[in-house]
Amino acid sequence: MSEDVSKPSNFIRTIIDQDIDSGKHDGRVHTRFPPEPNGYLHIGHAKSICLNFGIARDYSGQCNLRFDDTNPSKEDVEYVDSIQEDVRWLGFDWEDRLFYASNYFDKLHGFAVELIKQGKAYVCGLNAEQMREYRGTLTEPGKNSPARDHSVEDNLDLFARMRKGEFEDGAYLLRAKIDMAHPNMNMRDPALYRIRKGAVHHQTGVQWSIYPMYDFTHPISDAMEGITHSLCTLEFEDHRPLYDWVLDQLPELSHPQQIEFSRLSLQYTVMSKRKLTELVAGNFVSGWDDPRMPSITGLRRRGYTPTSIREFCDRIGITKSGNTIEMGVLENCIREDLNANAPRAMAVLNPLKVVIENFPEGDAETLPAANHPQNESMGTRDIVLTREVYIDKNDFLEVAPNKKFKRLVSGGEVRLRNAYVIRCNEMIKDDAGEIIELRCTYDPDTLGKNPEDRKVKGVIHWVSANHSHEVEVRLYDRLFSDPMPEANKEVEDFKDLLNPQSLEILTGCRVENSLANAPAGARFQFEREGYFCVDPVDSTAESLVFNRTVTLRDSWAKIEAQAKQGK
Ligand code: ATP
Ligand code: MG
Repeated sequence: MSEDVSKPSNFIRTIIDQDIDSGKHDGRVHTRFPPEPNGYLHIGHAKSICLNFGIARDYSGQCNLRFDDTNPSKEDVEYVDSIQEDVRWLGFDWEDRLFYASNYFDKLHGFAVELIKQGKAYVCGLNAEQMREYRGTLTEPGKNSPARDHSVEDNLDLFARMRKGEFEDGAYLLRAKIDMAHPNMNMRDPALYRIRKGAVHHQTGVQWSIYPMYDFTHPISDAMEGITHSLCTLEFEDHRPLYDWVLDQLPELSHPQQIEFSRLSLQYTVMSKRKLTELVAGNFVSGWDDPRMPSITGLRRRGYTPTSIREFCDRIGITKSGNTIEMGVLENCIREDLNANAPRAMAVLNPLKVVIENFPEGDAETLPAANHPQNESMGTRDIVLTREVYIDKNDFLEVAPNKKFKRLVSGGEVRLRNAYVIRCNEMIKDDAGEIIELRCTYDPDTLGKNPEDRKVKGVIHWVSANHSHEVEVRLYDRLFSDPMPEANKEVEDFKDLLNPQSLEILTGCRVENSLANAPAGARFQFEREGYFCVDPVDSTAESLVFNRTVTLRDSWAKIEAQAKQGK
């Protein structure tokens, strides 16, 4: 067994171990990741990518990237390009094994002709309604199409004319001749080729008027690439007999084994590409890379790291039983990664001006601040204290609501993080009664190495008024307000379940000057606020935009636990 013991085992790895022991496929392990280029990849695809490429890596095998591009009307090179970028970003490499099902269109056509010649496929002219009627139901057998008994010559002729573009879409289908009474509906003479006249394919252009169906294309593509284990999601379980049937008719090809596992489904989001496309097309989100999307490009823009997504895929594991994973599982993965690796910084999201009256005007005191509380190798940076600073509005209350309140109150004391203890002497309010400024004094003897010396209840973050930088901050929440938007039967349109509060934009926020030149994508912990990254799309040198990747703690889990307890 060559399995890496550090990787969690699963039933697929057990099958592979057995195959290696028994010498099946000559002990080779060759997998593939086969996306259809009809949308951007999402976190569900990441599960499949980590599984396929992970198995290849751990068994010293290979994994191909193959575009399953048999439906020209829905596919596009935009998706072909983004998929490659996303797989690479996740940390996987297909080396020189990038394939397209469309690479095999000639071969597939040849195999279709071979099946016709063997009397195992025929051209059928039933229309869609008749097809349904002839197909039967789960409890009743279907009926043979009148075309089933046509001669091989007639079928070859019609198939050739389909290819030449003589017929309109839907006029004919090439069907496998299997069994119209088969208990598995997929085996009731399934379609192998359909007409898509005039379609422009992103790889083959207008060469073809007919396109092979997925169930015909997939097993043959797998076999031609020498795939040993064809891993797919559970909805293909009922298609496996057809996968095997196709390969049984073509003994010149090898016979990979199809193994199914359950799809990832994640709370508070949708995973179907059709639905995600609808959100993008209808401008319900800003694009595929909207940081609220479960797409890889959205997660990347949100600040997720490849490591955190791979860790998530390891944690959820591979099984045959479907379940919906809590968003907190994904968020914990990025939180742990950033807690260990993101430098700390101070940012004030809702600034409240504080004037330190005994700090001389025009003075600036430079103070060192650790970039990470545990990891000294991350070094320190300089922060600057001046007479005017900003603290967060939420860190001040006129009167403490209870004894647990550790922030600043009128007449109370608090430590400015990495700096001195200040006391609030006076509040200045506007005409509406809102507090717009605090007058404080600081105690110059409190910059000690031993802050315990001085009993203050809390430590709050702050920035200097004139050594800080104004930025925009975007706070994200769940895209949907329903944990299972795809299962909710009460609404007609899943979009009715979108969370209207999923994006909150804060302007006029202030970050310490050390962040003024932070490059696109750079990640930080804003102390006491959460993990943030420089938005790679909308941020510019002149006006920085930060995305909140994730909060510091799983506050959502707490709210849900309280809701369960009826609080
Ligand atoms: P969708 O229903 O979102 O359109 P799909 O299965 O049609 O998804 P493909 O591009 O065909 O999308 O998927 C490529 C591979 O990724 C397939 O092997 C598919 O089984 C797998 N995959 C897709 N969605 C998930 C998911 N949610 N969890 C795990 N694997 C997935
Ligand atoms: Mg698909």
